[in-house]
Amino acid sequence: MKRKLKTLFFLITIALIGIVALQVYWSVNAYRVTKTKFDADVDIAMQNAMDDCKKDYFDSVRVVLVKRFSDTSLFKFRIDTLHEQDTVHKQLSIYITDADTTKQIGVFYRPSPFHLTSNQYDYYRAMVKTKKPSMVQVLVEASFYMPFLRQTLMGILSVDDLKDHWAETQAFLKTHSNIPHDTIFARHMEKQYGIYALPPNYEQADSIKLRHYLCEELNKLHLNPAFNFRFSPNHTTPNKLTSTYSETNEYTYKYFGFVPLDMSGRPFFARATFGKAQFTVLYKIMAPLLLTLLLILFTIYCFNYIIRLVIHQKKLGELKDDFINNMTHELKTPIATISVAIEGLQNFNALNDAEKTRRYLQTSRTELLKLDNLVTKVLNIAAFENKDVDLIKEEINVDEMMSELISANKLKVNKKIEITYLNRDDIKTIYADRLHFGNVLNNIIDNAIKYSKEPVKVDIFVFKEGGNILFSVKDNGIGIPQDQIKLIFDKFHRIPTGNVHNVKGTGLGLSYARYIAIAHGGTISVKSETNNGSEFIVSIPLKNG
Ligand code: ADP
Repeated sequence: MKRKLKTLFFLITIALIGIVALQVYWSVNAYRVTKTKFDADVDIAMQNAMDDCKKDYFDSVRVVLVKRFSDTSLFKFRIDTLHEQDTVHKQLSIYITDADTTKQIGVFYRPSPFHLTSNQYDYYRAMVKTKKPSMVQVLVEASFYMPFLRQTLMGILSVDDLKDHWAETQAFLKTHSNIPHDTIFARHMEKQYGIYALPPNYEQADSIKLRHYLCEELNKLHLNPAFNFRFSPNHTTPNKLTSTYSETNEYTYKYFGFVPLDMSGRPFFARATFGKAQFTVLYKIMAPLLLTLLLILFTIYCFNYIIRLVIHQKKLGELKDDFINNMTHELKTPIATISVAIEGLQNFNALNDAEKTRRYLQTSRTELLKLDNLVTKVLNIAAFENKDVDLIKEEINVDEMMSELISANKLKVNKKIEITYLNRDDIKTIYADRLHFGNVLNNIIDNAIKYSKEPVKVDIFVFKEGGNILFSVKDNGIGIPQDQIKLIFDKFHRIPTGNVHNVKGTGLGLSYARYIAIAHGGTISVKSETNNGSEFIVSIPLKNG
C-alpha cells in the first residue's frame, strides 16, 4: 500500500508539474502575442493621432482663412466668365482686390486673376461641409488642393498683415534697397508677425494636443497605457522593443503656426514610448490568466483531495486490521477460558466437586460478562453512529455510582491498584443516562488502569464548575503524546506506540465516551504528557443549570 501510495503521489506530482508547465507555456505565449499586437496597435494609434492633429490643424487654418477673406471691408472677390463659348468647361477668372481702393494691396504684390473651371468650382463647393457655402469658403477649400491658389491667398494675407507695420517695413526697405521687393516676405517671416507668427510655446502646446489625440485613439482601442513622447528636431534611432517596452515609429510633426506645412519650416520628430507596457498587456490577458490560475488551483485542490482520500482509506484499512486483531484477541480469550472451564467440568470429574464446579461456573460467567461488554461496546458505537439511541435520563446518586464503578474496576485486573475518590462539592445526584454515562466513566477508569504501570494510582474527583458537574479521572500512567491527543477520540484510533502492544483494546471506548458526553450536552477533554499520567475530564450540565 505504501509503495502504491508513493507511486500515486509521484504520478500526481508529474501530472501537476505537466499541467502547470503547460499553462505557464500558454500564458507566456499569450503574453508574447498580445505584446506584439500591442506594439502594432499603439503605432496605429500614433498614426491616427497624427492624422487627428493634421485635420485639426487644417480645420483651424480653414477657419482663419474664411474669417479673414469674408471680411468685406478688406477684400472683394469678383468672378468673370471668360470663355462663354466653352459651355462644358466654363473658365472662371477670379479677382481678389482690396475693398478700400486707397490701400491697394498691389503696392507690393499684384495678384493675377485666378482661373478654374466651373466644374472644379462645383467640385470644391461640394466638399465644403456647410449647406450653402460662400465663394470664399469654396476658394479656401480649393486652396488646400491647389498650391497656386494657396500661395495667392497667403500672399494677399501677408501683404495685408504688412499694412499694420508699414512704417517699419519702409524703413527696412530703405536700408535694404538692393533686395528685390519679393524678399519682403522673407523679412516678414523673420519678424514672425501676422500669418507667419507662431503661438508662444507652440511645441509644448502641440505636444499636449498630440497627447490628447493619442489618448483618444488608445481609448478607442481599449488601451490605457502610460506613455511619453520622444521629440527631437532631428531623426532618432529606434530603441529595441522588449517584453516590457514599446515605442511607435517616428512621425514628422509639422502642424503648427498658420502658414501650412512646408512654408512654416521647423518640423519635429515624434515617437510615443511605453515604458511599462507589461501592465496593459497583462490587463488584456487578465481573464484567461485568472482562469488559468483558477484551473491550476482547482487541479491542486482535486489532487490534494484524492491524496487525502487515499491516505484516509489507508488509515481506515489499518485501523480495521488493528480492530480485527484486537477483537480476535478480546473474543478468543474469554472463549478459550470458558472452553477450558467446561472441559474441566466434563473431563476431570469436577462436577463431583461442588467448590470446583462453582469456581469454573463463576469464571465462565465472568468471561461471558466480558464478552457481553465487548459486544455491547461495538453495538453501542454503531447505534450512536446511526443516531439510534435515545438517552433515558434519571437522577443518579453520584457516590453510589462511583463506588460501584471503583470496586468493579479494582476486581477486574491483577494489578496493584489504589483508587481515591473525592466528591469535593458534596454533589448528591446527577441527571444522566445510568447505563451510558456509567459506561463512559467505566471506560475512562478502565483506561487509567490499563495504561498505567504498577503500582497504579487513580484519583477521581467530582466537583462543580460554572453550571456543570465535572468528573476528573487522573492516573500516573504512560501518558499520551501531544500529537495523539486530538486523535484518541476518533473511532478505532489506538496510539501506535511499541510499549502498549500488550494492552488490548478496541479503540472504541473514548469515541463512545465523546458521543455520550455530547449527547448529555457536555464535553470530554484530556490533559496528558508522555510518561506523566493523564487526566480525563467529563463535564455534563447540572440538571437545573
Ligand atoms: P482502547 O480500547 O484501545 O483503550 P479507547 O478509545 O478507550 O480504546 O482509547 C483510545 C486510545 O487512547 C488507547 O488505545 C490508548 O492508546 C489511549 N489512551 C486512552 N486512555 C489512556 C490513558 N489513561 N493513558 C494513556 N493512554 C490512553
